[in-house]
Amino acid sequence: INPVLLIDSLKVYFRTKGGYVKAADEVSTFVNEGGVTGLAGESGSGKSTVVSQVFRILPKNGEYLGGKVLFKNKDLMKMNLKEFSKEVRWKRMSLIPQASMDALDPVYRIKDQMLETILEHEDVSKAEAMERIYKSLESVGVPQEKAEMFPHELSGGQRQRVIIAMALLLNPDLVIADEPTTALDVITQAQIVSLLKGLQQSRGFSMMMVTHDLSLLAGVSDMVTIMYAGKVVELGGVDKIYSSPLHPYTQLLIKSIPDVRKWRERKLVSIPGYPPDLIDPPRGCRFHPRCPLAMPICKEKEPELLRVEPRHYVACHVTGVRR
Ligand code: ATP
Ligand code: SF4
Ligand code: MG
Repeated sequence: INPVLLIDSLKVYFRTKGGYVKAADEVSTFVNEGGVTGLAGESGSGKSTVVSQVFRILPKNGEYLGGKVLFKNKDLMKMNLKEFSKEVRWKRMSLIPQASMDALDPVYRIKDQMLETILEHEDVSKAEAMERIYKSLESVGVPQEKAEMFPHELSGGQRQRVIIAMALLLNPDLVIADEPTTALDVITQAQIVSLLKGLQQSRGFSMMMVTHDLSLLAGVSDMVTIMYAGKVVELGGVDKIYSSPLHPYTQLLIKSIPDVRKWRERKLVSIPGYPPDLIDPPRGCRFHPRCPLAMPICKEKEPELLRVEPRHYVACHVTGVRR
């Protein structure tokens, strides 16, 4: 299968008074055509940094320092911003941003925000555009009449559905969802995730689903990428990652997922220690201060992300060996 999105050694740092924050350091991953790749890692591991650079919305103090982002074999990093906004953003690739419930403009009616998205990119009549807006609201389970309303007149879950409808308005090939459910209660979260998965399957777009909650990706993604402290530590098929993870960090993460069926038997494992400061991360493997398997070499040499078997990559001196 050809990847629709291939990120290769993407490097993005943030300039701060204290020094450079090494937020995404040679990050590599991919999304299969028609597939879903989960991008998981704890808070601050660099997930949104990667997303911001792919979508070209990095804040001013962010610096792109290298790497490729191939979208349908074209390097987005070589495209100028004007061309990217006109040809790619929203039209072929869209984003459901983190904290997206607040992404709607409070002073415009839902229909006006949606109209603007369509009319900016396509030469269609207003009537035609409205028809599409109603259809897309219906497809996410929001009644048509809500189109007349202002964002504050909708519930959190409805606002999130509207954001999803907006992301799909122009029929993109790839949707990037950055923690699309974090601000919602558990039941609404589950509904939104299954809505997204359903739409992904019926409409056939590819998706990158960003989350700090690994359990959310079961039944949703085919590939999972695990980030730790600005690095990808493991990338593999979802079954491999859940049933036989190789990187010590992934193993601890998987153990920490409460199993709903076996919750009585299983203790919740939390990983001792804290993620490092990304201005001055540990030398060698960034996970070494917390790693139960650390060896002397781990403090000296940074492990590379290596292919250990088909569709499975690991960055670890101890477990990242070819099988
Ligand atoms: P979360 O799950 O909380 O959304 P994340 O994995 O998306 O976390 P990022 O937002 O990518 O993490 O942040 C990665 C690192 O970069 C963090 O250490 C964060 O503090 C830092 N960072 C993010 N944005 C900036 C910025 N504009 N200036 C300086 N540092 C930043
Ligand atoms: Fe642990 Fe060393 Fe592997 Fe890093 S490289 S995860 S410190 S064993
Ligand atoms: Mg984030």
